[in-house]
Amino acid sequence: MTAVRLDGKALAEQIQREVAAEAGAFRARTGVTPCLAAVLIGDDPASEVYVRNKRRDCERARLASQLHRYATISEAELLTLVTRLNADPGVHGILVQLPLPSGIHTQRVLEAVDPRKDVDAFHPENVGRIVQGQPRFLPCTPYGVLELLKRNEVALAGAHAVVIGRSDIVGKPLANMLVQRGVDATVTVCHSRTRNLAEITRQADVLIAAIGQARFVTGVMVRPGAVVIDVGINRTEDGLVGDVDYEGVSAVASMITPVPGGVGPLTRAMLLKNTLSAAEMLVGEEPGARSQEPGVRS
Ligand code: NAD
Repeated sequence: MTAVRLDGKALAEQIQREVAAEAGAFRARTGVTPCLAAVLIGDDPASEVYVRNKRRDCERARLASQLHRYATISEAELLTLVTRLNADPGVHGILVQLPLPSGIHTQRVLEAVDPRKDVDAFHPENVGRIVQGQPRFLPCTPYGVLELLKRNEVALAGAHAVVIGRSDIVGKPLANMLVQRGVDATVTVCHSRTRNLAEITRQADVLIAAIGQARFVTGVMVRPGAVVIDVGINRTEDGLVGDVDYEGVSAVASMITPVPGGVGPLTRAMLLKNTLSAAEMLVGEEPGARSQEPGVRS
């Protein structure tokens, strides 16, 4: 078997065009241009690239964006900035680029963001809403994974989904979203202390790797015909590679995402969708397509 390659880049471009069209219609109805405010502290080169790309995406999708950039800032000053952005009616989404420099309490800053503008869905209120099946926003990477599965017509109801990784930004929210009514997967979460990992991953109809170890998932860990989603991004001497051994697993799986060009571009596209939804909710409109999204039903 040679797996079908799921093209995240093409799908992300399609979603970007959809957001551009919806944002144009929203602007025509309300006179409001959805706006994302990005906060970038320090000089981490990877963070700089991420924020630059996110702002470029906004431009392409005809959303406005702001950059609030500081080489250094105290936690108190950062909290004041967040409070100002919370109160600014021209700002609909707030993104605090992580990691923050040491000395700044990340959780305190994330909790200061108005949950109605928390387009990363990191605020405890938004995490709780996801667990309860009443999400306001879905976190961008898990949202991208679900969108990729949905638009490629991967059947999730009753399927066994195995998630490797239990981080707060990928593994845990993704597992929570997959188990919700309306998505209806049977979910197993594996992590660094899991025993007999390959025995469990071989039971997966849908296997999602969010580990951070290059080419960790090999062909023998995958059930023939499974769908394999690679969230990992690892910098190696061969360039960027995922958590999945693409060549080996392609010979076994029915569908597989590449790295780069898989989940990464979708993560960025879902940030645009969340920013548009935030603007719609803040002006009192029901977000366009939300009722059809996976994980939204309770
Ligand atoms: P993390 O380091 O916070 O979590 C990694 C998880 O993997 C942990 O829960 C750990 O228990 C598990 N793990 C580690 N070693 C393991 C092992 N040997 N067996 C089983 N489980 C093991 O990482 P994260 O933030 O969730 O990111 C995971 C990967 O996804 C990274 O490569 C990251 O760069 C990538 N990522 C990609 C996107 C994207 O947009 N595509 C977004 C976020 C993260």
